[in-house]
Amino acid sequence: MGHRWGMVIDEDRCTGCEACVAACHAENNIAIAGDDQAGRGRAKHWIRVERYYEGDFPDIKVKYRPVLCQQCSDAPCEPVCPTYASYQNDEGLNAQVYNRCIGTRYCANACPYTVRFFNFYNPVWDKPLDLQFNPDVSLRSVGIMEKCTFCIQRIKTAEINAKAEKRPLKDGEFNPACVQSCPAGAMVFGDLNDPESRVSRLSKSNRGTTFLEELGTHPKVVYLKRDSWHNEQNA
Ligand code: SF4
Repeated sequence: MGHRWGMVIDEDRCTGCEACVAACHAENNIAIAGDDQAGRGRAKHWIRVERYYEGDFPDIKVKYRPVLCQQCSDAPCEPVCPTYASYQNDEGLNAQVYNRCIGTRYCANACPYTVRFFNFYNPVWDKPLDLQFNPDVSLRSVGIMEKCTFCIQRIKTAEINAKAEKRPLKDGEFNPACVQSCPAGAMVFGDLNDPESRVSRLSKSNRGTTFLEELGTHPKVVYLKRDSWHNEQNA
């Protein structure tokens, strides 16, 4: 059986530090938008950290939720793309072929998680940030859609290395940049088809839930609810 990549995010562990956001920008060559473009809604963040509040001051509870492409199994962004630039690959990744994209932005309109971004201009990097490009990730130009790929460059590198060494991939031997950078260990990545993998076992937790479950998109990102909130809801 092939791989089916997925992620579990534990909201009890996330402290909202946004290390994952910084790591994603560096790994995936995502330019900083600057005040002017950000003010026009043109900032790009393949992962963002949402904050939810409950209660009244001073008894306020805060919950952080990192939101990235949910890698939906029934992805609304795919059938609306007239050039098949957005498609599901054989490892369950919602992939994006940049040089097929003609910039209709239909996928961004269809995605209920607002995790797709359009390049309204050719991105620029202030010096010396232009010296730290990741050579494994394409630069996206004006007119192209982009989004989280689960760091597909890392997935492919690990798969190629394992194949060359004639061995199976080991659970946890590589991670997307966000998972690697999280100081709280809130994010776990791996193969959902492997019943013994950590991500597989955690995804079956009774705290597990998917984002906007009612839409039937069947995401491959599972959130573990905060224990206290979960217990209150199930009291
Ligand atoms: S989260 Fe959005 S972009 Fe990602 S697969 Fe689902 S619909 Fe597509």
